[in-house]
Amino acid sequence: MPEPTTAPATVPAIDLVGVAKRFVSRRGTVTAVERVDLTIGEGEFFSLLGPSGCGKTTTLRMIGGFEEPTEGQILLYGSDVVGVPPNHRDVNMVFQSYALFPHMTVFENVAFGLKRKGVDKAEATRRVNEALELVQLDEKSSRRPRELSGGQQQRVALARALVNRPRALLLDEPLAALDLKLRQAMQLELKRIQREVGITFIFVTHDQNEALTMSDRLVVMNAGRIEQLGSPREVYERPRTRFVAGFIGTSNLLTGIVRSLDGSAAVLEVGADESVVVPEGAAAGARPGQSLDLTVRPEKMRITAGPPDAGWCALRGRVTEVVYLGTSTQYAVDALGGSELLVFSQNASDAEDIASRGQDVWLSWRPEHSLALEPEPAPVAEPELEAAS
Ligand code: ATP
Repeated sequence: MPEPTTAPATVPAIDLVGVAKRFVSRRGTVTAVERVDLTIGEGEFFSLLGPSGCGKTTTLRMIGGFEEPTEGQILLYGSDVVGVPPNHRDVNMVFQSYALFPHMTVFENVAFGLKRKGVDKAEATRRVNEALELVQLDEKSSRRPRELSGGQQQRVALARALVNRPRALLLDEPLAALDLKLRQAMQLELKRIQREVGITFIFVTHDQNEALTMSDRLVVMNAGRIEQLGSPREVYERPRTRFVAGFIGTSNLLTGIVRSLDGSAAVLEVGADESVVVPEGAAAGARPGQSLDLTVRPEKMRITAGPPDAGWCALRGRVTEVVYLGTSTQYAVDALGGSELLVFSQNASDAEDIASRGQDVWLSWRPEHSLALEPEPAPVAEPELEAAS
């Protein structure tokens, strides 16, 4: 596995340095963003991912200038923009609600900002046509918004932002209002547009699939903090915390007691007389007798009637549920040690299920797929009321 990509591969476009945001009202103080340090590279498709209330929209709005940080610096290409109004920052924001002018045509909606800026008419027409072509709406330029589908309206909103030629585009859940099929089509479409224009996209979403599909890199946020930063593959394959393991994809969580450390691996006792091997790197700093949480992705586990090959991690259990899902079958297994585990098995052939409900089985996986999780951080004050003054 290559080193985690915590630094962008390109020139830094946006730097957040110790950025925090607290909202103060009569009812008290809400900490929306705790302390965020982040560098986003030029031309990156970068996502802020996390559950509702984790602070991703506030972070995006601070980059756009719609909120000012309580602490820290926001640098756009090296210049601190804290205090600079949104229309003087070289970024544009696309909101979930498209906010198009209903009485204007598609062309007029896209041209609106340029007209206000006093851009020459011929130049504006050329730029609007270029933007509409990019979002594949050049043939619908004389329609009104109500004559367009949701996806087409979202493209108009996108063209309206791109026509200003910002250095970065900030997108706040822009696909949330679309149905699943359209949302998936628009994800690919957005990726294509971003590649063509080559500008930085910062995308806010609570949908892990969306973030994995589209991003070059992403952060997973939780309660105002960044829990993990990396490429989609790194964050999925190497979740560092219980929160990330649970938020992105499905994870099996196991807790074991470190029994021995032999220099290259740690052996964990996870149940009756069962043990699991964790590569030493993954259990760095662990001591015998210590409890360690680990995670194994369901698709990395194998299910067999007999014990696995030597060198594999193994657990015994009983199948409690078998769900056929077409491309794969999902098995729920109660492990002897008490954990409830899931196994996803690809249906490469149309043979029968590899195990049936009530059957005693072995679950096995390669040691490198045992991922030790960092201990849970001290509980963070919910971004709710902290102290009423
Ligand atoms: P969602 O996906 O629901 O939009 P989010 O991750 O984008 O969530 P934020 O909108 O950034 O979260 O909000 C983070 C926290 O800050 C929440 O607890 C929210 O209630 C609070 N918050 C956001 N804006 C304000 C405000 N203007 N005044 C007071 N509290 C606010």
